[in-house]
Amino acid sequence: MPLGEFDIIERFFSRGSRRADVILGVGDDGAVLDVPAQTRLVAAMDTLVEGVHFPSGTAGSYIGHRALAVNLSDIAAMGAAPAWATLSLAIPAADEVWLEQFARGFYELAELHGVALVGGDTVRGPLVVTVGILGLVSESSWLSRAGARSDDLIYVSGSPGEAAAGLGILQEGGRRADRTDAESRLVERFLLPEPRVELGQVLGGLASAAIDVSDGLAVDLGRLCAASGCGACIELESLPVSRALRARFPADRCEQFVLSGGDDYELLFTVPPANADDLKAVTRGMTECRQIGRMVDGTGLTFTRHGRPARVELSGFDHFAARES
Ligand code: ADP
Ligand code: MG
Repeated sequence: MPLGEFDIIERFFSRGSRRADVILGVGDDGAVLDVPAQTRLVAAMDTLVEGVHFPSGTAGSYIGHRALAVNLSDIAAMGAAPAWATLSLAIPAADEVWLEQFARGFYELAELHGVALVGGDTVRGPLVVTVGILGLVSESSWLSRAGARSDDLIYVSGSPGEAAAGLGILQEGGRRADRTDAESRLVERFLLPEPRVELGQVLGGLASAAIDVSDGLAVDLGRLCAASGCGACIELESLPVSRALRARFPADRCEQFVLSGGDDYELLFTVPPANADDLKAVTRGMTECRQIGRMVDGTGLTFTRHGRPARVELSGFDHFAARES
């Protein structure tokens, strides 16, 4: 007997959670959730389409992980703590093995960050996964893309560019066993993005603006600039270029990946100079955050290399542009 919609929900998506604030979860017409006083709810949603956001044939566990990770990253960029998620799943067939893998990838990450899956929808269709997420943040400490001021320091977490490099290696289609350590690391960074959930929450009182890097550092910094009404100057020699990138690509390609590669889900944020020491203190032990430039008066991005004005070729992904724009 093929699995019906009800069986799928019951077998794969009805795990309870330890969260005491879930009054009613999966199984009713809606979830009932307890929101503490003096707290703001932050809502975000992201959709993954097979062949657009991940290559066709990607294992279910990676898709389950990614569907939640990209949403956790949005919540992190708002300075909030993720709490509850909903999941809309369109699948071409009730493939038990795939569903089992998908649910494992999703729940492993959910449990790591204390997120409860509280509802969703399950339908037949081309493979499309939408996750909605709700996060909690104290009423005064949420972040947005607006709020950066001229002279604020610009930081990025971790190693941007690795995921795009990893996707490129995957698309070359070589055998897994033939990959070098650097290549395996890059591929894993694409397949298993690590949202900076902990970092986002400590930025609340310190950062002036934040955005997560989904479409590329330069493109996303441009969005932060536009929302904040100022410009940014990037010091190219300060960009973090990971060991794996350096091991696999020449320096100019590495810089391209760091500036233009998408899918990293690192946090890009601005901090008033007076908060720089506090930032260092609160982020000790977390993923390294590197200062890569400063906000300036004006609009858009400018670049310097060792103090001299520099030009760079940029690309970033736009779903509605013909191809890479
Ligand atoms: P309704 O008829 O009210 O739309 P459904 O039959 O679609 O309800 O779903 C039954 C219950 O299962 C609801 O609580 C819904 O939120 C939940 N649900 C459905 N699909 C999923 C899913 N993929 N993940 C989590 N919960 C789900
Ligand atoms: Mg329904």
